[in-house]
Amino acid sequence: MIKKIFFENCNLSSYTTIKVGGIAEYFAEPRNIYEFINLIEWSNFNQHKCQIIGAGSNLLINNIFIKGLVICTKKLKSLKIDPYSGIVEAEAGVMLPTLSNYLAKNALQGGEWAVGIPGTIGGAIYMNAGTGDLSLAKNLISVKVINNKTLKKLEIKKKDINFKYRFSSFQSNEFTIISAKLHFEPNGNLKKLIQTTKNNLKFKTETQPYHLPSFGSVFKNPENNYAAQLIDDIGLKGFKIGGAEISRMHANFIINKSSASSKDIYKLITVIQQKVLQNKGIYLQPEVRMIGFDYPY
Ligand SMILES: Cc1cc2nc3c(=O)[nH]c(=O)nc-3n(C[C@H](O)[C@H](O)[C@H](O)COP(=O)(O)OP(=O)(O)OC[C@H]3O[C@@H](n4cnc5c(N)ncnc54)[C@H](O)[C@@H]3O)c2cc1C
Repeated sequence: MIKKIFFENCNLSSYTTIKVGGIAEYFAEPRNIYEFINLIEWSNFNQHKCQIIGAGSNLLINNIFIKGLVICTKKLKSLKIDPYSGIVEAEAGVMLPTLSNYLAKNALQGGEWAVGIPGTIGGAIYMNAGTGDLSLAKNLISVKVINNKTLKKLEIKKKDINFKYRFSSFQSNEFTIISAKLHFEPNGNLKKLIQTTKNNLKFKTETQPYHLPSFGSVFKNPENNYAAQLIDDIGLKGFKIGGAEISRMHANFIINKSSASSKDIYKLITVIQQKVLQNKGIYLQPEVRMIGFDYPY
């Protein structure tokens, strides 16, 4: 039964927004929670490593053979919105732009910022993705998860999740996010919400290389500083290794200019870190998550 819902030897480059990736031994895109949980149970039972990915918009996957099962959540798209109470239930694979647009159209306030982040709800909670002080943590009620080891399913309340800048406790525990329950303010001004959402997307596309392959900001902003400013200050905009280039539009973005390899991108990340450390005395911590590299988080 399970055998029918995964492929073998799947090239992951089309599952990341920077368009590089390795070959997954097994790969699946479950269409419902039942299949999702079954796959996790199957990999656990067969002692395969199980790696969850969402939209792959914050991922650098090494171009190697990735042993075990990779599960992409993008087909887990159920989204239920109650415009009266403002309660939203979203499966892990719902895209933030979809959520943001739906909220605005239902006069629910508080998700306008999320329109420009091309990731899933699961990835956004795991990363605590956001802009400025805004992230889903603000609107979260609870998260349904499965424990990858014990296979126990549970619902975790927001108060039991640790959220910090681009960090959630899911980065250090063994849970896979299945779905989330959120609350947004009902009865907002429909016209205004739709306009703000549109403007936010426009702002993103005008200030970031949004339509070129990238994984968003490469580094976290150090305290009281901006990674983009530090990289720009030392003249690295436009610097290339192979097909990987530091964007001229936004220095904290690496773009896949012409068939970059994962190693070009990794090398560029380490060169930026070295140069910023030498010139500014600051170590830039990657925001991007790496698969198949020995990167110490
Ligand atoms: C053009 C562009 C603009 C961006 N702008 C922003 C921005 O403004 N702010 C911001 O914070 N980020 C931004 N990003 C980065 C990225 O979109 C976010 O980090 C996003 O939340 C990642 O979601 P994803 O579904 O793509 O996760 P992936 O990249 O697929 O995965 C990221 C991590 O989450 C884990 N994960 C994913 N789903 C689950 C799950 N269901 N359960 C457990 N773990 C899971 C993965 O294992 C991985 O470690 C941008 C990226 C791009 C390409």
